[in-house]
Amino acid sequence: MTETLDISITRNQNSRLAQTDFDNLPFGHTFSDHMFIADYADGEWKNFQIVPYGDIMMSPAISALHYGQSFFEGLKAYKHVDGKVSVFRPYKNAERFNKSAERLCMPTLPEDIFTHSIAALVDVDSDWIPTKAGHTLYIRPFMFATDPYLGVTPSKTYKYMVITGPVGPYFTKPVKVKIETEFSRATEGGFGYAKAAGNYGGAMLPLKMAIQQGYDQLIWTDSRDHAYVEELGAANVMFMINGKLITPSTRDTILKGVTRDTVLTLARDWGYEIEERRVSVAEVLEAAKNGTLDDAFGAGTAATIAPIGQIEHEGHLYTLSEPSQREFSNKVLKTLNDIRYGVVEDTYGWNYMV
Ligand SMILES: *Cc1c(COP(=O)(O)O)cnc(C)c1O
Repeated sequence: MTETLDISITRNQNSRLAQTDFDNLPFGHTFSDHMFIADYADGEWKNFQIVPYGDIMMSPAISALHYGQSFFEGLKAYKHVDGKVSVFRPYKNAERFNKSAERLCMPTLPEDIFTHSIAALVDVDSDWIPTKAGHTLYIRPFMFATDPYLGVTPSKTYKYMVITGPVGPYFTKPVKVKIETEFSRATEGGFGYAKAAGNYGGAMLPLKMAIQQGYDQLIWTDSRDHAYVEELGAANVMFMINGKLITPSTRDTILKGVTRDTVLTLARDWGYEIEERRVSVAEVLEAAKNGTLDDAFGAGTAATIAPIGQIEHEGHLYTLSEPSQREFSNKVLKTLNDIRYGVVEDTYGWNYMV
């Protein structure tokens, strides 16, 4: 893969691998030995480099810092049972990377450069991919504006970077969620569908308040009426009601998840009836009350399949069925893992071999 992209590689002479405790990997704290960097200037991407992971020097005037011309992606690499390494559906992330770029007036990146940069970096740091069940290498590509200029206009120069790190499970128990009825994550005409840095900064206060009230996460609702379910934190949300898999249809306010697409594809092939449409808070709560809510979970790369244990809405707490007894989410998680770790054949072509 590296042949197709001319990457200069500087090896890290002070590997931190031996000092890393692979039995204790909370999400996002540990970084592998190398990172990828490329520059955008004069209308093109250049200077493709893999260098030791470390701090970078920047002008304090870059518009990424002041005006949020900054966005990211998230995907994972897996070490298979036979030792081979794959990245899960990177071209889907490449496509979304460019949707985010366009919305923020930033340059797109050819999908092959995105994918090959990731494959080359994962290859250099393949010893960092955990082998323990449920553990993976999290990959964080991102782009940000670097013009040292305070005008509120799109920058002319950018950096594209990729960092990675081994991670354990994001949620270790079923999540207790609050349906948010005051704050909004995204609005019609906004950029909730992009992985723009600002979307996540703006979500921190509502989440912090919910955590103070004893919840783990928020279910975001539409900004106009707070009557329709949109997402679960930074994951898509799915419900099985009366045997039907129901999930909010994608729109301006909803991030079109790769995990969401993967789960829907599997469910469709297993013969489940699927509804992608607006999902009202009222119907979810009604199903929770009358016993027809068979399953409820978040779906995302970081969260994987995160079962919802309890849902709060306006002072009422609904306890859902015991997560270990749920048929669909357990089956989908097992199948996903079997495909990603190479236990079963990848008939969908989802694993990009490094
Ligand atoms: C990243 C993200 C998701 C999940 O997308 P995946 O491609 O499945 O990782 C869902 N919602 C939000 C808001 C996200 O940021």
